[in-house]
Amino acid sequence: MLNDLSEVTQRLRRVCSQEVDVSGSYQAFLQDIIDEGRTTLAVSRVSVWLFDDHIQPRFLLNVANTDWSTKVEQMDCAKLSLEHYHTYFTALKSGESIAACDAETDPRTTEFADGYLKPYGITTMLDTVIFKNGVPHGIVCCEGTDGPRQWQSAEVSYAEMIADCCSRRILVSELWALQQQLSDLAFQDALTGLKNRRYLMDYAEREISRHMRAELPLSMVVVDIDHFKAINDTYGHEVGDVVLQAFAGCCKLVLRTEDCLCRLGGEEFVAMLPHTNADNAYHVAQRLREALSQQQIEYGSERIMITVSCGVAEVNLQLPFSQSLKLADHAVYQAKAQGRNCVVRS
Ligand code: GH3
Ligand code: MG
Ligand code: MG
Repeated sequence: MLNDLSEVTQRLRRVCSQEVDVSGSYQAFLQDIIDEGRTTLAVSRVSVWLFDDHIQPRFLLNVANTDWSTKVEQMDCAKLSLEHYHTYFTALKSGESIAACDAETDPRTTEFADGYLKPYGITTMLDTVIFKNGVPHGIVCCEGTDGPRQWQSAEVSYAEMIADCCSRRILVSELWALQQQLSDLAFQDALTGLKNRRYLMDYAEREISRHMRAELPLSMVVVDIDHFKAINDTYGHEVGDVVLQAFAGCCKLVLRTEDCLCRLGGEEFVAMLPHTNADNAYHVAQRLREALSQQQIEYGSERIMITVSCGVAEVNLQLPFSQSLKLADHAVYQAKAQGRNCVVRS
């Protein structure tokens, strides 16, 4: 029974306003809200459930639960099918709160009696809808195990506020994910899916200081496709694009996962090789060059072969990155001058 609604709502509002890490699981960023709700409402458990699909929901999935630790564990009843709990879902989808004093006999929750209420000893339920854009998105489910309970209207309002707090956090988390996607796109080359020049500059700054601290060598290979203009002229720009994509795919197979391949622009790329000295980088460049020269790129009935010229440089960790990039670039020009399809060290 809530004696002073203003005090508990103010506490909940403060909890909800805390900065939390929304990049993690629902459990992690909803935990403080549902814990606060459980204490205030004096119920045995508060859980958050979200619809699997907002347009045509088929299930409710349990995403947070006061019984769980921050590290999410799966509960037995982590998924509820709409098909099996038709009356309950019809009530929820209307957006109304369900305050079932006696959960076993209340017509909206009696469907749960044998499969859920009895096994878990649940006697009373207070479920409120989480809205998104005015549409039900999920629920907050408060359950008691101390016999039937007459829910006060203040308690129902309070539970609705918990649902609104969850809704706000979920929205922030979705915005965060969207922002991540946008920032990933800003650092990605749209054609090849590789990282772009902007990413390379950030990456180089980070890696130079890390390698300096660890006293480890960092190397780079600049790769330029030979006579690429002729491919465009012969087969068309579209085929040129396919060749660039195939090039990226082939490089990824040769390079280690910790290496970083970026598109500098046009048909020019750079592979950053952490923890690698110039000798080893030279061998990597030779392997790349060989693999690329053996790759047959198919486009319709066409079979296209390419060669590349590579410039290798060990990054000078004391100088700005642009200086090392210039050296590797210069090595590429020398490789071109030496007849292409070869590797030159700076
Ligand atoms: P070299 O062996 O000296 O490197 O000759 P090249 O023809 O490869 O070099 P050049 O710089 O003369 O030409 C590069 C060409 O790459 C010209 C440009 O139209 C083409 N190119 C740049 N970006 C793209 C792209 O995104 N798609 C396609 N299809 N072509 C591109
Ligand atoms: Mg070229
Ligand atoms: Mg070029």
